[in-house]
Amino acid sequence: MRNRFHGRVEAPGRACERPGCPEPGEFRAPGPRGSSFDGPGDYRWFCLEHVREFNAGYDWFMGMSPEEIMAAQNPIHGWDRQTRAFSPTAGIDAAPRWADYSDPLEAISQRARARRPAQRADGKVFTPDERKALEVIGLELEADRRALRKRYTELVHALHPDRNGGDRSSEKRLQAVVEAYQLLRKAAAFV
Ligand SMILES: [Zn+2]
Repeated sequence: MRNRFHGRVEAPGRACERPGCPEPGEFRAPGPRGSSFDGPGDYRWFCLEHVREFNAGYDWFMGMSPEEIMAAQNPIHGWDRQTRAFSPTAGIDAAPRWADYSDPLEAISQRARARRPAQRADGKVFTPDERKALEVIGLELEADRRALRKRYTELVHALHPDRNGGDRSSEKRLQAVVEAYQLLRKAAAFV
């Protein structure tokens, strides 16, 4: 239902997607998945103030902790509909999704590397899944917990869709980074 205000689409119950904003989400912005041969794209919904901020390219995640960023990305904010092709277990338990790799050989070598556990200098061991997650997030075996959090925060900021015009490749990479971090923050080697 549209009213006189240009661009306003009323939908009772739909909240603004700006983390923490209680206003109704009545203004549409491009979503994480743009229109393509896969079908029509997604939209994100904001109040008037926040659709203006969104369009101005504000970084709402600046200064937030990794946990706060993850909370802001929970499914009610529309960020949890991505493919799981790059989850730490994809390609081990499931067939790799070739379309997601530019080079099928890369998929095969990732799969082979991920099967080996890895031991650090201090004797702690990363499971194959954790080792793959380290590669996804770009950390060495000897990285500590602080380095993990720092790298994660940097990657989330760099890959955030607001910074990348909704580019699908950075969105997939962000999803993979979030999942890798979720696995690694519970890894025995980081305790
Ligand atoms: Zn708002």
